[in-house]
Amino acid sequence: MQPLTPDRLAIHTMTTKPWSLAQACEAYASAGIAGVSPWVEHVEPVGTREAARIIASCGLRVPAYVRGGFFVHPGDAEREAAIDRSRRLIDDAHALGAEMLVIVPGARAGIPLGSAREAVADALAKLAPHAQQAGVKLALEPLHPMYAADRSCVNTLASARDLCARVAHPSLGIALDVYHVWWEPDLERTIAAIGRAGRLFAFHICDFKAAPAHPLLDRGLMGEGVIPISEIRHAVEAAGFEGLAEVEIFSERSWATDQTEFLARIIAAARAAS
Ligand code: ZN
Repeated sequence: MQPLTPDRLAIHTMTTKPWSLAQACEAYASAGIAGVSPWVEHVEPVGTREAARIIASCGLRVPAYVRGGFFVHPGDAEREAAIDRSRRLIDDAHALGAEMLVIVPGARAGIPLGSAREAVADALAKLAPHAQQAGVKLALEPLHPMYAADRSCVNTLASARDLCARVAHPSLGIALDVYHVWWEPDLERTIAAIGRAGRLFAFHICDFKAAPAHPLLDRGLMGEGVIPISEIRHAVEAAGFEGLAEVEIFSERSWATDQTEFLARIIAAARAAS
């Protein structure tokens, strides 16, 4: 495997949360990073058109727009509104030149996981044709089971694969984030099966610290935790994935540091972890 040099990396703007979209894109591009995956939180303050201009002027590729979904609600009207929001985000992803829209499925205390999963399958079946028309893929991201109560009713790669097979639309696939699935039994076999089905759309990297201070906001830099990143990357590439590895680190500790220095640490850590 080639080392994960900057030309093989994209960075999620939430990784350098204190930076505006323009600051992030300029810094990534001047460090030789190949792509940016903008978050809605960084695009909305400037608007989609200006965001597209900023990204294009920096010459960055856009693997993903992050993130749509959150389809699990008690009422029909709320569920439809969530689908409409994702429909608009698909259009925005197209305007940004993004390959895909990341989908976080949603979950809600009080709604049984079975019903929640039905709602997600229904929403994805409704959205996939719109995504196809827009030339944008939908990347369903299974989240670690610690988020099953409030963020995601899809918690393993294997169940995400089954859900995609059930919806059976070529525009629907999976974003594999090592933080969420590194622990999963039969990981290599599942990755291979997703690759064979043509549904391995994205590869997100960071690390899982052995004793995180916060379940969401203390992700580690590659090499700081327990994830066998190189092994998983090997399986992902063996399954046919040829896209950019996307660095996605939410860390209050890192956000409080100098972001230019943090970016240099990211680049060094990616190279060392691969
Ligand atoms: Zn991710």
